[in-house]
Order: sequence, then C-alpha cells, then structure tokens
Amino acid sequence: MKGGREPQAGRADNMPLVTSHEVLRKAKRGKYAVGAFNANNMECVKAVIEACEELKAPVILQISQGAIKYAGLEMATAMVKAAAAEAKIPVVLHLDHGTSFEQNVQCLQVGFTSLMFDGSKLPYEENVETTKKVCEIAHAVGIGVEAELGIIPKIEDGYSKKEIEAMFTDPDQAAEFAKATGCDSLAVAAGAVHGMKSRGAGLDFDRITEIAKKTKLPLVQHGSSGVPLKTLQKAITCGICKINVATRVSMALLAGTKRAWDQDPEAKDFRPIFKEGMSEVRKVVSEYVHKLGCAGKG
Ligand SMILES: [Zn+2]
Repeated sequence: MKGGREPQAGRADNMPLVTSHEVLRKAKRGKYAVGAFNANNMECVKAVIEACEELKAPVILQISQGAIKYAGLEMATAMVKAAAAEAKIPVVLHLDHGTSFEQNVQCLQVGFTSLMFDGSKLPYEENVETTKKVCEIAHAVGIGVEAELGIIPKIEDGYSKKEIEAMFTDPDQAAEFAKATGCDSLAVAAGAVHGMKSRGAGLDFDRITEIAKKTKLPLVQHGSSGVPLKTLQKAITCGICKINVATRVSMALLAGTKRAWDQDPEAKDFRPIFKEGMSEVRKVVSEYVHKLGCAGKG
C-alpha cells in the first residue's frame, strides 16, 4: 500500500511501495502495460527508477532467482526499498518466478508488495495447490500473486518451435486455474522464450485474447526481450498488462560499460565507466515505457 512520501531514515515499514494489484488494475482499465525490470544491482535499480521518474511511469522492480543468488534476498530487497523511498513514482517490489511457498512467505515478511509462485513445471494439481496457498497468505495482507500456467522456456533449453508450442497455456485450463487458485495475474506461454538476445519471437494473439477473456485477469508477458516491440504493443491490446524485460537491460548495461571502458582503457575509477552503462539502461527502459503506453500513468 502507498505510504507517506517523506523518506524516513531507518523506517523500513514506511516505504512508499505500492502493490501490483493497484498498478495492474489501472493498467488493465487503461489498456497499457507496466514494465517489470530486474533489480540485480544498484546500477540497474537506479537507472530504471530514473528513467521511469522522468516519464512519470509506474514501475515494477522484480527480484529474480538469479538476483537472489547474485545479490542475496536482503540486499536486493534493501536496494529497491531505498530507491523507492526517494522515488516520486509508484514502485512495486515483486518476486519473479518464486520457487516455493516458503520463499513467498520470506518475501512477504521482508516487505514485498507483489509475489509470484511459478509452479508451471509441476503437475497441474500441485501447481494449483501451492499457488492457492500462496494466494491465501498474500491476500490476508492485501498483496497480489502472479501465477504461471504453461511453460515459458529458456533459450538455453534449446526447444524446437513445435516443442515450445506444446507448452503454450491452454485458455480453458487457465480459466479453471484462475478460479481454483484465486491468483491475481497470470504469466502466459504464447510464443516468448526467456533470455533471447534477438527479437525473433512471435506471439499467439488469439490465445492471449482467449485467456484474458476467460480468466478476466491482467496477463503477464515473460521473455519480452526476444519479442519485437510492435508485437508487444499488439499483445497489450489482447490483455497483457505487465511486460518483463531482463536480457535487454543486462545487455545495455554491458554495452554502455564496455564502450566507456574502451574509450578510457587506463581508467582506475569504475564509477564514470558504470555511469555510461546506466545511461544505456535508461535509454532502453525509456523506450519500453513509451511503447508500453505507461508514460504519464505514475
Ligand atoms: Zn520470466
């Protein structure tokens, strides 16, 4: 829930984080999508917030399993809270691809304002069971839960197009799943693949439309780095309200940093070099914010 805007040092319970409920409901009504970017390090967190502030856009900062391994849950959480406390836009602190009920409870305890349980690789009944449990505890404190049905693979898995299509979300099953679990948003598998460096993925728009109609939930697009921007824009008209972008942000940080270091190979202070990386991240985030239609919505 939105707290006071005045940052108060040492008051971890007074951060102006907002819930995903709030931003996704507005996005669904307004037919735009909110960008969700990964909180891997300070540079990414700062650059994402700066770009969204400049465009007055709401933003979802999400902590992935990779970020938990890299920065640690406490550190990653603290970075987002500190940045959100100074931000003039709505910031959501979200768990990406939560692996268990226990992990979701831990995140709730440290102040996440949005959760995810990804049981997509589990048998259907087990996915329903754990998602439902996560929803019950999250809803008790007014927090929304993203779930996943159908599998959105990783590029490293090396699946064929046919194999990827066989893992698509089934609209009727999605409707049943939404009803059985009480989840608040749903990650759908309809053509995107995690971790793509090129924008070669197409999306099954009819399927997305059908799922949105049958579940009435805000839908989530994972693996968006590999999807052309125009395709993402069309997917938003079909019911996508949250767009996860990780790879492109990571590549931007690397590209800007490399360019700056190449220009000054004798540098001994990394900060001016990393600043160029942050500037590239801001550019990528700004482009997404414009294209997703969420500029001015914060
Ligand atoms: Zn994902």
